[in-house]
Amino acid sequence: MGANTMSNQKNKFYITTSIPYANAAPHVGHILDPLIADVLARYRRIKGDDVRFLVGTDEHGAKIVRKAEEERKTPKELVDENSEKFRDMQKLLNISYDDFIRTSDQKRHWPGAQKMWRALKDSGDIYWKKYRGLYCVGHEAFITEKDLIGGKCQDHQKEPEVVEEENWFFRLSKFSRQIEQAIVSGRMNVLPDSRRNEILSLIKSGLEDVSFSRPSKDLPWGVPVPDDPTQTMYVWCDALVNYISAIGYGHDDSAFSIQHSAFSKWWPADVQVVGKDNLRFHAAIWPGMLLSAGLELPKTIFVHGFVNVEGQKISKTVGNVISPDEVVDKYGADPVRYYFLREFPSYEDGDFSYKKFEERYNGDLANGLGNLVARIAAVGAKLGPIRFDFSASGGEKEIEERIRVGCKNVFLEYERQLEGFRLNEALISVWKLVSLSDRYINEKKPWMLAGDDLKAVVINAGYVISTIANLLEPFLPETAEKIKEQIHIEDSVLVVRKEKALFPRLGETPH
Ligand SMILES: [Zn+2]
Repeated sequence: MGANTMSNQKNKFYITTSIPYANAAPHVGHILDPLIADVLARYRRIKGDDVRFLVGTDEHGAKIVRKAEEERKTPKELVDENSEKFRDMQKLLNISYDDFIRTSDQKRHWPGAQKMWRALKDSGDIYWKKYRGLYCVGHEAFITEKDLIGGKCQDHQKEPEVVEEENWFFRLSKFSRQIEQAIVSGRMNVLPDSRRNEILSLIKSGLEDVSFSRPSKDLPWGVPVPDDPTQTMYVWCDALVNYISAIGYGHDDSAFSIQHSAFSKWWPADVQVVGKDNLRFHAAIWPGMLLSAGLELPKTIFVHGFVNVEGQKISKTVGNVISPDEVVDKYGADPVRYYFLREFPSYEDGDFSYKKFEERYNGDLANGLGNLVARIAAVGAKLGPIRFDFSASGGEKEIEERIRVGCKNVFLEYERQLEGFRLNEALISVWKLVSLSDRYINEKKPWMLAGDDLKAVVINAGYVISTIANLLEPFLPETAEKIKEQIHIEDSVLVVRKEKALFPRLGETPH
């Protein structure tokens, strides 16, 4: 391909996570969303895309007000505190987000939410209706008879209140067919197939109109409905709009827009990462709103499973709430990233337990990858810098066929898995290279070699280890960096240094 046919234009890649509710501090169940998005964002950056990665917190609603009262704080104090904790969790886990949006931010977020409301109203899709229903305070939503067991909400063990209100409603039913077509045609991809089928069957049974506001006297903590001071926006038109308010939607006329009106550049989102409990909101209500407002639909909605702890749903009652700090303080960020990305099938639920964690840590990290790097660092460090021809044009002739083919096959497999959002499978592929080098080293016994024979083995093993480090960069950024400090290839020179163990076996101190 000639240089003049290539464009300097980078691909844009806009990725978002669902925003957690800031009524409490994060627990390990909150790790997956930002972690999956982080791997995809890092992967795209390495590929040269222009990436924007958004995270944030959902900060309004009656639950926040009640929790603040319990803790003798104002709602603002409560969400400031919890939002900061989510920010800390992201930093702790090395989440490479570009932007953090808070829905209580009146300057950044509210104009977008209100602009969306007006757009829906102008389309004739917001209407006033008297509503009578069973309201569960725990759900913070109306529930139906089907949700009750013995007269109580089965999730919250509370009797619902019969509430009669007049609210603004959104005519979601009108968009059922359009949303269905968007999913079926792939214009809006829903992954994996199991979730796609789930949402399609829900749409087939008919999407109902959604209550979009609450009386302000009951819900003073939220975005005011434009032109109706008696009503506050309910979560949908507030929280879901974060994905576009963060890139300037609603800021057309203000000075603020000069910095933030990136809307036309970034929207539609390329990937929206959400948990399975968020499927209906993101694959039905959100696209309905976008269609009504005349905006484009996100290209892909990727739905991951739940985090269970010791085989059970995370809950205070069960007493299995674990904070991310606790795990990261004990093992470090990369081992935690590894566990959640490798042990959890990207398409399904997964389980966290300390026992399984330590098994994976010792097996895959300490004895697997860590040991491999240490073995080659030990025999290679005494050789000094090794010059040889690594360029593709030179045919990499010092690399044995099976090593070169092994690396190439794994690379192709890895790309395929990442494009399909099968992050755990991509890691399984990378570990095939760990096994390949282990077999190679066991066969060649470099500790019994010297001179050119030793050099040849170190070159081949160093080549595989460099490949592993490159492939691990989106997953385990610190580890990739540490491997490169020990073994790296630059300008046709392989440099091997011996440093501390990458993953000290648990129970031992690093030496
Ligand atoms: Zn409930």
